[in-house]
Amino acid sequence: MDVRSVTLLGATGSIGTSTIDLIKRNPGRYRVEAVSAHTNAAALAKLARELNARFAVVSDPAAFKDLKAALAGSNIEAGAGDSALIEAAERPAEWVLAAIVGSAGLKSALAAANRGATVALANKECLVCAGDLFMHAAAKAGARVLPVDSEHNAIYQALKAGRAEDVHRIVLTASGGPFRTWTIEKMRAATREQALKHPNWSMGAKITIDSATMMNKGLELIEAHHLFGVGPDKLDVLVHPQSIVHGLVEYVDGSVVAQLGSHDMRIPIAYCLAWPERIAGPAARLDLAQLATLSFEKPDPVRFPALAIARRALEIGGAAPTILNAANEVAVDAFLHDRLSFTGIVDLVSATLDAAERRGAVKEPQNVEEAIGVDLMARSLAQDGLREIAAKAS
Ligand code: NAD
Ligand code: MG
Repeated sequence: MDVRSVTLLGATGSIGTSTIDLIKRNPGRYRVEAVSAHTNAAALAKLARELNARFAVVSDPAAFKDLKAALAGSNIEAGAGDSALIEAAERPAEWVLAAIVGSAGLKSALAAANRGATVALANKECLVCAGDLFMHAAAKAGARVLPVDSEHNAIYQALKAGRAEDVHRIVLTASGGPFRTWTIEKMRAATREQALKHPNWSMGAKITIDSATMMNKGLELIEAHHLFGVGPDKLDVLVHPQSIVHGLVEYVDGSVVAQLGSHDMRIPIAYCLAWPERIAGPAARLDLAQLATLSFEKPDPVRFPALAIARRALEIGGAAPTILNAANEVAVDAFLHDRLSFTGIVDLVSATLDAAERRGAVKEPQNVEEAIGVDLMARSLAQDGLREIAAKAS
């Protein structure tokens, strides 16, 4: 393989860190064009130096001075703010990792897709917020979108076994999160620390909370719809607490093709980094004899209503998924700052979606600016909902 030029958006996060680990283990294979972080200038400068990147960007303009100081004496250019983030995505790297969390990562991921780069997409919120627009832009520019999300990466691999028209059903597995066996009463009082303790995966705070509510799987249903062009009737979720089987594709003849692997994000990331080749990875080898048992169960719709709400948003279509995503980002942030109870997260998302429907505000966004407008409107509706909840409690 020729040396591949890469840009890492969200380089300081959990996915960014795993990607850098793989790049360092494969010296001479990758050249780093640009790296970004939100506010942590010191961490970004350190990794930019280690990776010999050309351009480092903090999306928070307030962190620019620190970044500039931390890069003094190097040849690395410093940038800050939204336009610098877009510039990072537009610089000529063949491969761009979109690993910013939340719809804040939409514009930069889109900028990479618009110029026809290969986009390794971790940022599922960007597809939930503006999936049709994103996938159309990528198709128009000839950009390949490689899914980093483990379930979608598994399905991407399993889809290579047959023709799209012969797919009967696609199944995403879910660990069930830390509260898989908890009662609703216990979940109502769940603390941030309890929700942040994922049984299998070590990830950023937002997705860890999404895993605990199972909204993560709801977002992933919508993500799968856009990535693979299948309707909600062909998408299923199966709880699999060991997180070994990541995704399954059932073909019309009854064959089920699945991808398995230990739960280490460096497996799907390595697939994307090396695509269409493979690179050796450091993840623990799968030892099925030692694991002995893999178990599966249906998700419980009563204790985990997030799945049905996300499915409803997908079925309503239009701006409903954009609203779902924005409300969820507000709700998770409020929970992480002790302003909302754990079960309040999904209640607030559901109430925000209802409020937007009552206002007739679910019209399909026609372009990215409109999608961002809907995102902002939904955030403001969710903040109103939060204030109502706080008023009731006091
Ligand atoms: P993280 O919180 O660990 O890292 C997020 C990165 O984005 C950091 O580099 C941070 O500086 C940057 N960032 C945060 N807010 C920003 C903003 N407003 N503007 C610009 N940059 C910002 O998150 P993560 O766990 O690495 O997840 C990243 C994305 O990948 C999420 O969309 C998540 O759903 C998805 N994902 C993560 C995992 C995982 O194992 N961590 C698995 C599947 C999918
Ligand atoms: Mg996933």
